[in-house]
Amino acid sequence: MLLKFQQTIAKPISFEGICLHSGKISTLRLLPGNQDQGIIFKRTDFKENNVIEACYKNVSSAKLCTTLENDKGIKVSTVEHLLAALYIVGIDNLLIEISSDEVPILDGSSKEFVKILKDAGIKKQNKKRKYLKILEKVKFTDQERSFTIEPNSSLEIDFELNYKNNLIGNQRNEVNFSKDNLDDIINSRTFCLFQDIEKIKKNGLAQGGSLENAIVVSDEKILNEEGLRNTKEFVNHKILDCAGDLILSGYNILGKVICYKGGHELTNLFLRNLIDNNKHSFEIIELQDKEIERFSQKLYQSRLAVTA
Ligand SMILES: [Zn+2]
Repeated sequence: MLLKFQQTIAKPISFEGICLHSGKISTLRLLPGNQDQGIIFKRTDFKENNVIEACYKNVSSAKLCTTLENDKGIKVSTVEHLLAALYIVGIDNLLIEISSDEVPILDGSSKEFVKILKDAGIKKQNKKRKYLKILEKVKFTDQERSFTIEPNSSLEIDFELNYKNNLIGNQRNEVNFSKDNLDDIINSRTFCLFQDIEKIKKNGLAQGGSLENAIVVSDEKILNEEGLRNTKEFVNHKILDCAGDLILSGYNILGKVICYKGGHELTNLFLRNLIDNNKHSFEIIELQDKEIERFSQKLYQSRLAVTA
């Protein structure tokens, strides 16, 4: 979203839900954030050292989900679908009070998070939003996986996944977050292979997983009775994850991402490589052009209305 000013929510809002990995119920309270504060998690089950900043440097694990950890070892995991909703709705500053170490999975997509944020309302703030504008192509590879970013006037993600499973197979989609209808991205759920579930559960993960919050694929069949929500739901969910993980840069990114077989871990490795080792490849800017904002604002309002 190309907006000139920072935004937060208009009023506090609470919700709860089961967590995908721990299987516990977690309660969240979202509170308006101060300008330039960014996204901050606060664990209410700890009295001190309980603040965890949503920053790429605090990602301590990115296997199956994104886990943030502060320097005292206090963690919060499965943050990516909430972060993606914050990016899509256009929230820059937010305090997230959370009663345990994991964000609820809700329906496995960002759909309910977007609705909760819209119920809280959006508040425009006085300070200008900062953008990370890509100036030259940066490519990061890890064996066959690759993550490239090129200069672009808005965030665009071109993602390709390639699974041995024939039903998932090879899917590719390209989405411009400022110009395209994002309903399919917002609604796309996390997914897993039926044969992996037992292994994942043995490792103490996915304890709260069910057909209510994930697409489960068994060989050539989708086990969820209702089937898929859109024809490219698998890759669309990967694009959603990617958008959520990119917000951990602390900025809205202006660039075109081309990602092959990526995931939480690759996105985080890329961000570390970009911000820590390629400072000449980007600049931090504010948008000045009022026309851009008016144009974007119109699109933005229609998007909020459509997804209501
Ligand atoms: Zn996901």
